[in-house]
Amino acid sequence: MFNFHYQCSQCGREYEITSEMMLCPECSQAQKPDEPLRGILEVVIDGHFHHQPKMSDLLPVAADYFPNIPVGNTPLWKPANLNQELGFPDLFIKDDTHNLTGSLKDRASYLVAAFAKRENVKAITLASTGNAASSMAGIGAAAGLDITIFLPETAPKAKLVQSLQYGARVIPVAGTYDNAFDLSLEYSHKYKILSRNTAYNPLTIEGKKTVSLEIYHQLERVPDYLFVPTGDGVILGGVYKGFRDLMQLGIIDRIPTVIAVQAEGSNAIARAFESGSFTAIDAHTVADSISVGIPRNGYYALKQLKQYNGKCVTVTDEAILVAQKELSANAGLFAEPAAAASYAGFLKMKDEIENDATVVLLVTGNGLKDIDSAMTTIEFPSRSITSLEELD
Ligand SMILES: *Cc1c(COP(=O)(O)O)cnc(C)c1O
Repeated sequence: MFNFHYQCSQCGREYEITSEMMLCPECSQAQKPDEPLRGILEVVIDGHFHHQPKMSDLLPVAADYFPNIPVGNTPLWKPANLNQELGFPDLFIKDDTHNLTGSLKDRASYLVAAFAKRENVKAITLASTGNAASSMAGIGAAAGLDITIFLPETAPKAKLVQSLQYGARVIPVAGTYDNAFDLSLEYSHKYKILSRNTAYNPLTIEGKKTVSLEIYHQLERVPDYLFVPTGDGVILGGVYKGFRDLMQLGIIDRIPTVIAVQAEGSNAIARAFESGSFTAIDAHTVADSISVGIPRNGYYALKQLKQYNGKCVTVTDEAILVAQKELSANAGLFAEPAAAASYAGFLKMKDEIENDATVVLLVTGNGLKDIDSAMTTIEFPSRSITSLEELD
């Protein structure tokens, strides 16, 4: 068994992993409004191993505390028609639509739920653009937790329905995700409730690293390129963390080229990648799950991208919807717009990528979560028939 502690990603101070510890108490004092979170904490693995560790050994909560539900271990598969059409025989899809509530967010909720169990915490609150909400609601239901969600009123209906169906308390917020984020933090302080706000709770980053551990085990090698749809940059941070853990343990010897894919109308990290600094914007994109004005994990994500020669690419809403349609119609994979963005990013960059490269597209959420967006690219049959003669 390994031991684990938190370390500030900015100043390097070390802390014990407790339910009160969220951001570095020192670095977070310099927090200004309208910028990414300061003092993001990372989980650090202590010690060495003498046998090949299991994936669960690399998580800071012991396996016994996790609810008994299917999260993670999602399929990695080749979309044969696209492999052939595009001339990339080693293009893979890491299909996280297969999680319990239909998105990659379950990886974070799963770890947070296990941690809550270990710490004897009964209630969790969070803000969400939709998927983190439905995820924590579903996993919280299975784990017997009380979940309170702050959701912008613009969230897709299906994500709201999911959250309510799982029995969470949903508080709609008039305003954006950024407003919901602030209100949920205030609520968690006022009522002393564990926050699962993304990036703010360090376990959200840590939980998402399992996707990289799985990709490595499924491929039995490190991919050359990994496309990651990016809003707050927490999935991105988690993806890097997984590969960095494998490096630390001497299991792999390189980090893949990670490409952060953002929507043109919600491109804060891509802009900061160029300019070096974050400026708040009004985010607008059809891909609601990656629509954020202030990427909460911006500083941390940017640092990883720079350190490991990652790249950013932005795609238009139109390109996202085209990619969504193509994934559905050519590969049988109906992804929500944010999830299809990784494919749109690949299409935009593919001329710069060697055809024999091992490429993984991270597909993060199920298309049925947002049918309104999908409906803009399909044509509904115009009338019903009673006999075949009526067919043209
Ligand atoms: C949350 C989410 C993302 C983006 O993750 P960030 O950590 O905010 O960058 C991408 N796709 C889907 C489906 C999501 O739910």
